[in-house]
Amino acid sequence: MKINAGEAVHAQAVAAAELLGANLREREIEIVLLSQAPHFVRGDLTSPDILASLDRRRTLRSEFAWLGVADAAGNVIQASNNMLVGQSVAQRPWFIAGLKNIYSGDVHEALLLAKLLPNPHADEPLRFIDFAAPIRTNDGKVVGVVAAHAHWNWVTNTVQAVINRRETNSDAQILIVSNSGNVLYPQALAGVSQLPKQLPLSNTYSIATWDDGRSYITSQVLVNADSPTNFGWRIVVRQSLENALIPVYDMYARLLVLAFIAVIVFALLAWRLAQSVSKPIEQLAAAAHCIQHNTSAPQYPSDTSLSEVAQLSNAMQSMTDSLLTREHELELLNRTLEQQVLQRTEALAAANKQLEHLATTDPLTGIHNRRSFDETLTAYVQMGKRTGRGFSILLLDADHFKKVNDNYGHPVGDAVLQQIASLITQNTRATDFVARYGGEEFVVLLPNAPSATEVMTVAEKIRSAIESATFPEVGRMTMSIGSSDWRAEETHATDLILRADEALYNAKASGRNRVITYAQLP
Ligand code: GH3
Ligand code: MG
Ligand code: MG
Repeated sequence: MKINAGEAVHAQAVAAAELLGANLREREIEIVLLSQAPHFVRGDLTSPDILASLDRRRTLRSEFAWLGVADAAGNVIQASNNMLVGQSVAQRPWFIAGLKNIYSGDVHEALLLAKLLPNPHADEPLRFIDFAAPIRTNDGKVVGVVAAHAHWNWVTNTVQAVINRRETNSDAQILIVSNSGNVLYPQALAGVSQLPKQLPLSNTYSIATWDDGRSYITSQVLVNADSPTNFGWRIVVRQSLENALIPVYDMYARLLVLAFIAVIVFALLAWRLAQSVSKPIEQLAAAAHCIQHNTSAPQYPSDTSLSEVAQLSNAMQSMTDSLLTREHELELLNRTLEQQVLQRTEALAAANKQLEHLATTDPLTGIHNRRSFDETLTAYVQMGKRTGRGFSILLLDADHFKKVNDNYGHPVGDAVLQQIASLITQNTRATDFVARYGGEEFVVLLPNAPSATEVMTVAEKIRSAIESATFPEVGRMTMSIGSSDWRAEETHATDLILRADEALYNAKASGRNRVITYAQLP
C-alpha cells in the first residue's frame, strides 16, 4: 500500500509539474509569437491592429488579466481594456528584462493593476506571473516590449486539476514551492509551512515528517518550463501516511473479524468432534473403570455416530457380560465349595471327636479305657512334679469273676462288668477319674492329695456299694481294692501301679472283698 500510494503521489507530482511546465512554455511562446507578428514588427505601437490582437488574446485566454505594449522608454502605449495606458512601467522587472529578451516572471502581487481589476478571492492578494518579449523591427531595433500578466489562479488551478482528477477519497495535497523553498500555493500554507529538510528532489517519493509532526508520503518534482528564465518552481505532492494506509488498517480489521469468526467456527467444530469422539471414549473408559473396581453397573455410550466407537462399545459390553457371567458362576462355585469344605470339616471334626471318643473310651462299659488312664496318669505325674501336689489310685478287681462267665455265660459277664463300672462311677466324684484297666479290673484316680482316710472312705464306699448291689441272674458280687499314693520324688507312674497291685494282691490273698492300702502293708 505504501509503495502504491508513494508511486501515485509521485505520478501526480510529475503530471502536475509537466502540465504546468508545458502551460507556462505555451504562454511564453504565445507572447513571443505576438511580438513577432507583422503589425508589431512594423514598429508602430499605436497601430489599432496591435490593440485588436491584444484584446483578442485577452478574450481567448481568460488567464491573461492584462496584455499591453510599452515603448522603449517604458510608457504603456496600448493595453487590453486600455488599462494602464499612458503610465510608466520603466521600473517593472518585466519591462527591464523584456527589453532584452523573452521573459517569464515569478509570481508577484499586482501593484498597478490591483486597483483596476476585481479580485475573485478577497482573502488572497491579487497575484500574477508575467510574460514579456521585446518588439523588434525588421532591422533589429527594439522599439518596445509586449507583455502579459497571467492570473496566479490559472497556475494553481492547473496543478490543482491534476490532483482533483484523482479519486475523491485521496487526501493528497499539492504544493507549489518557489526556488528558494517558500510555499507559493496553497495560500493557507504560504509563509506557514516549511518543507521538510533534505527532501530529495528526485524521481521518486519519500516518507517525510513535516512541521505539523505528521508523516507524509512526499514527492518533489522540478517544474521545467524549458525557458531562458526558469522559475525553478517545484511541485510537491504529499499524502498523509496514516490516510494512505487506511485501507490496510481496514483490511487488517476485517481479517481480525474473519479470524475471530474462524476461531469460533473451529472451536465449535472441535467441540462437536469432541462430543462425537472423545465423549463416547471417555464413557467407555469410565465403564472400564466401573468394571475394574466393581463399583456400579457400567454405562455405555448410547448414541454415538462413530461406527468404530459403537463397535468398541458393543465388544466391551459383550466382554463385560461374559465376564460377569463367569464371575457369577465362579462365585456360585466358590460358595458351593466353601459349603462343601465346611460340611467336610464338620464331618471330619465329628469323626475326629468320634475317633477320640473311641480311642479313649472302653466300648463295653462306656468309661475311660486303659490308654486314656495311662495318658491321664502321665499328665498327673507331670503336674504333680511341678506343683508338688500328690494323688492316689485305687486298683479294683472283681472277685471270682471267671466263675460268672463259666456259670452264666459271657454276655452275663459283660452285663456284670457294665453294672460294676456304673456303680464305681456313681460312688466317685466328678473330679475323680474312673477307667477300665483291663478284663474285670478297674482303676480310680483320686486327685488333690487325698488323705489316707479319704482314700479309704472312697474305696470302702465303692466296695460296699458293689457288695450290697444285686446283679441280675448272678446275684451278689464283691470286689477287692488295692490303693497307693503318688510320691513327689517319683518320676514314673510304674511304681505307683506296682504298689497298688501289691496292695490288691494282698487284699485277694487275705480273703477278698476288702480294701488294702499299700501304706498298711508291712
Ligand atoms: P480272682 O478272685 O482271683 O480274681 O479270680 P478270678 O476268676 O476273678 O480271676 P481270673 O483272672 O482267673 O479270671 C478272670 C476272668 O475274667 C477270666 C476272663 O474270662 C474274664 N474276663 C475277662 N475279661 C472279660 C470280659 O470282657 N467279659 C467277660 N464276660 N469276661 C471277662
Ligand atoms: Mg483279675
Ligand atoms: Mg478277679
